Amino acid sequence: MTTFADLGLSQKVLSAVTDAGYTTPTPIQAGAIPFALQRRDICGIAQTGTGKTASFVLPMLTLLEKGRARARMPRTLILEPTRELAAQVAENFEKYGKNHRLNIALLIGGVSFEEQDRKLERGADVLICTPGRLLDHFERGKLLMSGVEIFVIDEADRMLDMGFIPDIERIAKLIPFTRQTLFFSATMPTEIQKLADRFLQNPERVEVAKPASTAKTVTQRFVASHGKDYEKRATLRDLIREQTDLKNAIIFCNRKKDVSDLFRSLDRHGFSAGALHGDMDQRSRMAMLQNFKDGNLQLLVASDVAARGLDIPDVSHVFNFDVPIHSEDYVHRIGRTGRAGRSGAAFTIVTKRDTKHVDAIEKLIGEDVQWLNGDLSALPPADESSDDNRSSRRRDQKSKGRDRDRSRGGRSASSHKSDIDVEDNGVVAIEAAPAKAESVRNERKSENNKSHNGSRNNNRPFPAANDDNRERRNRYRDHDDGPTPVGFGDDIPAFMLIVANAKG
Ligand code: AMP
Repeated sequence: MTTFADLGLSQKVLSAVTDAGYTTPTPIQAGAIPFALQRRDICGIAQTGTGKTASFVLPMLTLLEKGRARARMPRTLILEPTRELAAQVAENFEKYGKNHRLNIALLIGGVSFEEQDRKLERGADVLICTPGRLLDHFERGKLLMSGVEIFVIDEADRMLDMGFIPDIERIAKLIPFTRQTLFFSATMPTEIQKLADRFLQNPERVEVAKPASTAKTVTQRFVASHGKDYEKRATLRDLIREQTDLKNAIIFCNRKKDVSDLFRSLDRHGFSAGALHGDMDQRSRMAMLQNFKDGNLQLLVASDVAARGLDIPDVSHVFNFDVPIHSEDYVHRIGRTGRAGRSGAAFTIVTKRDTKHVDAIEKLIGEDVQWLNGDLSALPPADESSDDNRSSRRRDQKSKGRDRDRSRGGRSASSHKSDIDVEDNGVVAIEAAPAKAESVRNERKSENNKSHNGSRNNNRPFPAANDDNRERRNRYRDHDDGPTPVGFGDDIPAFMLIVANAKG
């Protein structure tokens, strides 16, 4: 069996690898490291979770032992599609480079230019960047790219999805032609292959897993659900509660707004949850991720931008609150669990609307995913007397109200939106289905008490401007201890929603 010592890495690197507790190279490491050390170009096809990062970090560290950096002239450049990934690569350099004295500069958006400038001024051995921020620095005249010896393009397929290819082409033109290029992608569609052909010279191709294959150690299940957001949220809560072995989980939504809504809902229901998506500022994102890594948060609600390559060892579960629209995203999402040979579980909530995407996923991964408690045809009919009817009735009333208001020239578009938000937040569900409503109400009450006692989770990453107003407005609804009076349309006076005997 190949060992790290067989790969040609330096003593300093080998000792750091031993300290990190790794004994055997993963297939991408065993395949790529010897070629990288021979200064060959590499086209690596590997998913995250395969040890891909170390497959370029370890040989780079070894090669960087000779020579030193000059001011403003980085010696190596690594491009990553997201800030989180860039930060993770920097962490890898710290971990494996602890016996080296190298300057690592992380150039990502959302943090000030000044500190980054200082690092560039000192001379960076390794520059880890998102493409936009690198070009910003370049345009400000703070960088000379003519000293770059090794150029790494990581997660190329993600770069393509995110529209970064023109930036990368521009950057590649700034770097000497004689450089060594290491190119990694989880999948190799035609556009990516063309890109690789343009950037790489006589590359060694190292492929470790079939493109778009899922780890064998992940148990995958589809879970049938009715399609309204509050119904999906109830399905998710039940599912989470059923998991006896849940250590921590990432929950994926397709849209940023749903990340926010689901996070709020889980928080209200007393789960230890945080959220991560591209609109949060960098500091909040890093803090959130660190909290999750440290085990202070059990559930992390995330969008796909946050998904690629997050190195969070030992995530026990992945939940897809939404079926991903692009089937490749399914592979990336569930790749967050079952990493480096560990076991994991991935549950995907599926509604009738999702059958097309589910078929595409099964086709892509080349296997049928089992259903947890029967497929969509086994779903009990939606409670006609309750949720659906009530919500549509409320909507009718609302739209009547709106028409009335509109004819009065009254309400703005934004106030319509907040009505819908209120409904999305599950208030309608509480009005209906008496038995379930009772348990939800009790849960709410205990949540409200908790919140009054100040013990509620303070990790709120979405302090939207209208947040307070909505919170205030919903507070009365959250106190709701009985059926909401109907017949008022939008115009239920707040006092009618306050519980008569409420003490808290
Ligand atoms: P990556 O694919 O780079 O995101 O790495 C996935 C995970 O595997 C990370 O948590 C690494 O720390 C871990 N890892 C990297 N190399 C090895 C190895 N040789 N043996 C065991 N785990 C590893």
